[in-house]
Amino acid sequence: MNEDVKTEDKVVEKAEKAEIKTEKVEKVTKKYRKPAKKKVCAFCVAGEKTIDYKDVAKIRKYITEKGKILPRRQTGVCSYHQRELSNAIKRARNMALLPYVGD
Ligand SMILES: [Zn+2]
Repeated sequence: MNEDVKTEDKVVEKAEKAEIKTEKVEKVTKKYRKPAKKKVCAFCVAGEKTIDYKDVAKIRKYITEKGKILPRRQTGVCSYHQRELSNAIKRARNMALLPYVGD
């Protein structure tokens, strides 16, 4: 009888260890993330120095549905062009070409 209890305990121990191992594996897989593709500034590639506020079709790609300006980390625009872009968007909003608040 005593031996039976011991073996059961061992089995339980083994099962617990296995569970811990699987947890570890899950954690590792969760941590792993595909390295992000390096984005290049579309305005630099096109060789444009200034951004026209009247070019709404182009600017529209850099605002959200709600009308917010998208961050650089999402669009890959360089710091210089992000500044130009934000100015262009603000001018377009003032001229009612773009909404201040979208739907
Ligand atoms: Zn740029």
